[in-house]
Amino acid sequence: MNDTRLNISEIFRSIQGESSYAGWPCTFIRLAGCSHNCRHCDSLYAKITEERLTTKEVLTRALALKTDIIEITGGEPLEQAESHSLMTELCNTGRKVLLETGGFMPVAGIDPRVHKIIDLKPPSSGHEKDNCMENITLALKAGERMRKSFEFKLVLADRNDYLWARDLLGQNPLQESCTVLMGVVAGTLSPDRLAGWILEDSLRIRMQLQLHKLIWPERTRGA
Ligand code: SF4
Repeated sequence: MNDTRLNISEIFRSIQGESSYAGWPCTFIRLAGCSHNCRHCDSLYAKITEERLTTKEVLTRALALKTDIIEITGGEPLEQAESHSLMTELCNTGRKVLLETGGFMPVAGIDPRVHKIIDLKPPSSGHEKDNCMENITLALKAGERMRKSFEFKLVLADRNDYLWARDLLGQNPLQESCTVLMGVVAGTLSPDRLAGWILEDSLRIRMQLQLHKLIWPERTRGA
């Protein structure tokens, strides 16, 4: 373990809210910093570094929270090179390690034990052209066992986003290979409208609502 320090926004325990692990108690390590500016970003505060910790200090703090699942999130965790060795060290403890990434950077080279939750940013984010399409190729080329460690997440704000997502899924056979999650940006698109479109088009995806926001609607961080 080297002593390069990671920029940290917060480390906390909560309920995993938006992946196939939703509902499980989980420790979150939120790395600070992100070079993007998505329109509906709900973690802009994570651009600010609250503390700088070594990998060892992060491990000690995270393990003290005693959950079987630990998620690295951000900000954009992959913008800090040290996040790779942090993930490996966490995997070595035997915990299930999740990575949540904005999807602008390649996930190639990440420890294969890490479960990757990769955003595909729709037009309303203002960044749909920046999605790293290489991640889709990587998932589709992976063997059956490795493919299970990829999830793609689409958080949509309107009909235009939905049509974009439907086209993307039409062009890339992700539904047949990986878990694809679809949800709404809170306060924009209503969940029942999205559910109707998914059923109308017979999509083979998993709809989800952000569980932590239902449990703690007032909380803006640490959830
Ligand atoms: S990539 Fe994530 S953290 Fe960065 S601006 Fe977009 S939503 Fe926010």
